[in-house]
Amino acid sequence: MDLKSLIRDIPDFPKPGILFRDITTLLRDAAGLRHAIDSLADKLDGAGLNAEYIVGIESRGFIIGAALAYKLGIGFIPVRKPGKLPSLVHSVEYELEYGMDKLEVHQDALQPGSRVLIVDDLIATGGTASATAKLVQQIGCELVGFGFIVELRDLAGRRNLPDVPIVALVEY
Ligand code: IMP
Repeated sequence: MDLKSLIRDIPDFPKPGILFRDITTLLRDAAGLRHAIDSLADKLDGAGLNAEYIVGIESRGFIIGAALAYKLGIGFIPVRKPGKLPSLVHSVEYELEYGMDKLEVHQDALQPGSRVLIVDDLIATGGTASATAKLVQQIGCELVGFGFIVELRDLAGRRNLPDVPIVALVEY
C-alpha cells in the first residue's frame, strides 16, 4: 500500500516556507491506518527489540504509539508538554529554533532498566525525539529503539539520536 499517497502536503504551515506533512488524512483512512500500524509493528518486531513500554510523544505520538502498544501487547506511557500530567514528573528541557521547551513523564511510569521504545508520528530535526531519549535515559531505562510513520531525511534527524534501531515507514 502506498502510504505516501495518503499523507497530505500543506504549504506554509505552521509558518511561511514550511511544508507540513499532514498525516490526519492517513489516520482517517481505515485501510491506511491499519496498514501503517501493522507495518510499523512488523518492522519493530522483526528488529527483535523486546520493548516493555512504548513512550509516545504528545500529541500525534499518542495516536500512533497507543495503537502500536495495543498491537504489540505492551504498555503505553505518555510524554507530555509541561503542566499536563497530574502526578510527580521527571522533565527534560530542550532547544527549539527560538527558545526552549520542556517534556515531562510521570516519575512512577518508568524504572531503571525498563525497555523503552520511543514513538512519534514524524521525525524532522530529531530535537523532540532526542530530548525524549535523554529523559528516559536519565531515569536509567534501556532505550531499545525509535518508531516513526514519517522521516524527513533532508533534516538528518537520526544523526541526533542514540545508536539504536530507528524504524520509519515513509521517507521524504
Ligand atoms: P523535530 O523535533 O524537529 O524532529 O520535529 C518533530 C516533531 O514536530 C514531532 O513531534 C512532529 O509531530 C512535529 N512535526 C514537525 N514537522 C512536522 C510535519 O511536517 N508534519 C507533522 N508533524 C511535524
